[in-house]
Amino acid sequence: MPELPEVENVKLSLERLGVPGQVFERVELRRADLRTPLKKEMTRRLPGQRLRAIRRRAKYILFETEDFLLLNHLGMTGSWRAAGPGGGAGEDRRPHDHVVLHFASGLRLIFNDPRRFGLLELSAKDRVPSQLARLGLEPLSAEFTATRLFEDTRRVKAPIKNFIMDQRRVVGVGNIYASEALFAAGIRPTRPAGRLTHKEAEGLTETIQSVLRDAIAAGGSTIRDYRNSEGEAGSFQKRFAVYDREGQPCRRCGTSLKARILAGRNTFWCAKCQR
Ligand SMILES: [Zn+2]
Repeated sequence: MPELPEVENVKLSLERLGVPGQVFERVELRRADLRTPLKKEMTRRLPGQRLRAIRRRAKYILFETEDFLLLNHLGMTGSWRAAGPGGGAGEDRRPHDHVVLHFASGLRLIFNDPRRFGLLELSAKDRVPSQLARLGLEPLSAEFTATRLFEDTRRVKAPIKNFIMDQRRVVGVGNIYASEALFAAGIRPTRPAGRLTHKEAEGLTETIQSVLRDAIAAGGSTIRDYRNSEGEAGSFQKRFAVYDREGQPCRRCGTSLKARILAGRNTFWCAKCQR
């Protein structure tokens, strides 16, 4: 499943392709549904609309037009590719091409999704889609500060790892990123969130941001079959500090790394470096 860094890279790729500013000519729906119904409304309302911007919120991509918001989630296997002027390689028709956005310039964006857990939903621009209504802080935004993390964790007894992976608190910190950020900050994943000091909250906001930025710079890092919208595979091979390294020596102190299941997810840490 694509994580936040991969989705950010899809957004950046769409921007590089010059998608913002394009005017919709036609929306072609090749099936009735993905995870949710593909509503015909899209084919009537989008033509003539200019794309003002492409944004990312958590793992959603938001195509903003003058009057509408086209909400997209890649699900497990969704990807965009471009065809037509400036699009190049994606010209051929492939299995699982479910939606094609045709723009007046001749550019086309094709949504391919073999497992069909993806999502494309249209809403009025002044309405917040229900999927976005309860999302927590965006970790790479200015609102994600040490003070905010410190205050939000007060009196929280749940482990800090569960807290930073809770989408209602902070979005897009997947399991790998949580383990790596906690190691870099020297905080044990099992520590009750409410026991973080302000200084540790400072360290953790920094390490969460740096692991996400590193993953974005590497083109995304977590899954093998994912491709960004220019058709390049994200670079998967990343040298993790703790993730998936149970029993192996800590890269900092040499102690054998520990692992246990926390909130249903594999969790890795160094008992000496993380307190
Ligand atoms: Zn260590």
